[in-house]
Amino acid sequence: MSFEEMDVDTIWQNGEFVDWDDAQTHILTHSMHYGTAVFEGARCYDTANGPALFRWEEHLDRLFDSAKVLDHDIDHTREEFTEATLELIRQQDLKSCYIRPLVYYGYNSLGVSPKDCPTEAMVACWPWGAYLGEDAIENGVDVMISSWRKHASSQIPTNVKATGPYINSMLAGEEARRNGYVEAIVLNKEGSVAEGPGENLFMVNDGEIYTPGLSESILDGITRDTVIQLARDLGYTVHDEASIARGQLYTADELFFTGTAAEVTPIRTVDDTEIGNGSRGPVTEEIQQQFFDLVEGKLDGYDEWFLEV
Ligand code: PMP
Repeated sequence: MSFEEMDVDTIWQNGEFVDWDDAQTHILTHSMHYGTAVFEGARCYDTANGPALFRWEEHLDRLFDSAKVLDHDIDHTREEFTEATLELIRQQDLKSCYIRPLVYYGYNSLGVSPKDCPTEAMVACWPWGAYLGEDAIENGVDVMISSWRKHASSQIPTNVKATGPYINSMLAGEEARRNGYVEAIVLNKEGSVAEGPGENLFMVNDGEIYTPGLSESILDGITRDTVIQLARDLGYTVHDEASIARGQLYTADELFFTGTAAEVTPIRTVDDTEIGNGSRGPVTEEIQQQFFDLVEGKLDGYDEWFLEV
């Protein structure tokens, strides 16, 4: 759905609430030319207690950590980002939405060094349903192994959510879609499984759960962390430092993606090979159910993960 079709009208930019169409930046903005912005993608869910931000503090942690690595000097406090976001949701009467904070080097000069450019910031919110499609949540997605490899963290830090590195995600995802798949799986420089273009990956074998470790060139996903905790609370053994070889994907009992946008999405085929029986597996379904119950505020014991609007 395009922004034109959405009922949203306000964006927070550099401390001000501005009309959607007035949230502008100069064409010579540093981050536009060199991919030096850092960002987050969070969600507000319509819970039993009303709209609530999910794991907002962790998203702020990652935003500020990303900013630190790119040496952004953010003029706004965590509290200002929080207040801005809550206010955007209230003002636009959103029940559930995706939240996009972005911190970028603005306009002043265009050397690669951003030192003379101001660090600017914005937050926007908009309604966003199932990222890979409603059907995907139930029936799973067909994916291919991308011919693009994930950059190593010695080349571009993979724990940092900066805009430039998303070229890798864009190329991998578009290659997959050009070839008739819904999404890609990207291998790391060593040839082990890293992640999806915008998702972490989980594998189920003989009732145990595996996910590539942080040293496999993955983003430290907040949904990944949520799913690890939910699965352990359900009694599963979770190997969260796994190194997964490409061949293991084809013989896995179950595979699924996790991400703020993708939530928990089953993978039904990899390179046209059916995973398990080619439909959502029982462990994936149980974790998915638990995840959706959680974000709808139906599970006890996870209150600290929610910030009510
Ligand atoms: N990996 C990549 C490359 C991503 O872009 C994302 C989405 N932020 C994820 C993993 C999942 O992270 P999270 O669960 O924090 O959204």
